Amino acid sequence: MTRPARPRVAVCGISLEASTFSPALTTAAMLAPRRGREVLDAWDFWREGGSLADRAEWIGVLQARSIAGGAIPADDHATLKAEILEGLRAAVAAAPLDGVVLDIHGAASVVGLDDMEGDLALAVRAVVGPDCLISSGMDLHGNVSRTLAETVDLLTTYRTAPHVDWQETKERAARNLLDRLALPPGRRRPAKAWVPVPILLPGEMTSTRQEPATSLYARVPEVEALDGVLDAGIWIGYPWADEPRNCAVVMVVGDDAGLAEREAASLASELWRRREEFGFVAPTGTLHEVLERALASDVAPYFVSDSGDNPTAGGAGDVTWTLAELLRSEALAGSGKRAIYASIPDAVGALAAAEAGVGAHVRLTVGARIDARHAPPVELAGEVVAVVPGEDNLEVVVRTPSVDVVVTRRRRPYHLESDFTRLGLDPRSADVVVVKIGYLEPELFDMAADWMLALTPGGVDQDLARLGHRRVRRPVFPLDDVSGVDPLAGAMLFPGDTADTDA
Ligand SMILES: [Zn+2]
Repeated sequence: MTRPARPRVAVCGISLEASTFSPALTTAAMLAPRRGREVLDAWDFWREGGSLADRAEWIGVLQARSIAGGAIPADDHATLKAEILEGLRAAVAAAPLDGVVLDIHGAASVVGLDDMEGDLALAVRAVVGPDCLISSGMDLHGNVSRTLAETVDLLTTYRTAPHVDWQETKERAARNLLDRLALPPGRRRPAKAWVPVPILLPGEMTSTRQEPATSLYARVPEVEALDGVLDAGIWIGYPWADEPRNCAVVMVVGDDAGLAEREAASLASELWRRREEFGFVAPTGTLHEVLERALASDVAPYFVSDSGDNPTAGGAGDVTWTLAELLRSEALAGSGKRAIYASIPDAVGALAAAEAGVGAHVRLTVGARIDARHAPPVELAGEVVAVVPGEDNLEVVVRTPSVDVVVTRRRRPYHLESDFTRLGLDPRSADVVVVKIGYLEPELFDMAADWMLALTPGGVDQDLARLGHRRVRRPVFPLDDVSGVDPLAGAMLFPGDTADTDA
């Protein structure tokens, strides 16, 4: 059989960040799988006219992706995985594959299965065979198990949080693959130095906009630039899932195995040495402490992050605990100040309010349909002041004596000023704006006269000790006494082709 001039590269994957501390589930439908050509349309670089479009024969198989949520039900996962493998088998049957881009986040969870990404990588490997190179560009909040590190030939990750380099990273993963495929067989696989670091920290403490993450991540491109190194990455990991793999990981890949090993150890050691420096991106407190500060403040708007149920980190989104506290707060009612609350998803409530219409007075029972562990559904009585239907959502605003409450048909983030203004709300003139969010996204950050992060309950509780991890490897910082821990104890080197050749 004659090989095509351009390498044949398949693209597939399942991309999700999933809390196992939330009763929410992420179904196959919510993961909205793309197939065939649609898979390639997701990224500019291999779409027609894109920078890498002509460098390979790209074969879109199946790629599924959702905003953060709960674990994937076992049957839904089995269906998606089977379709990926079937698509790869069909591609291989036509002609051998030279490469696979495994498009994953790294923090997906499946009910009853640990290490979704490692499991998928092994299954893909079994279909594509040992000679095919697999490359993956991940989220730095993803996890790199030993299985994943060993099975995927080229791993890279974002270098910023918030992730302003996400497209660049996905492109780097594809380009690294093509560059290695241009080498003769037997020289393509780099050595991989993998160091799991026993640290479990929320993203709200590890933003690369502040130290120590800024200077730690600044070292990554310096390491990458070394002769003999192909790529370097620091995965800070995902703390809201309870699997043995959840911790930080440093990886350096390159043809110089010894150098990769030394540089990975150096990055991991610095991460470990500076672990106590990680702190929250904003002042934190209990909701009551935060509310007290907000109501006493003479600047507005005062933003409050209702962080425990942040839907973009994996919260169910319908935890009512904070909203119930706001509605019954005598301090808020007595202050004469007004608050905006965004948001509580409740399809029945949103539809009922929309049906009643703007101007109607309604009495709704909303929220806690998925996550009722912290508070029951909340009674919401007030005037409907906005009804805004969207393409796949419906948002309403119910005005109570002190709080304008956004109720939605589906959960969604509120990250932009326009998310509020299109509902007729003016966050700039509000006294207090409470949002289900962790660190404030840039527009809200710029708008906030002041800001605190409330340590509220939910599936992505920022107070990790409250969650009760039982399955992560111990001891781990900051949950345990780690004084006797050697951060390099788990380090491993997976030799590449070049190591064999040199030997
Ligand atoms: Zn992330």
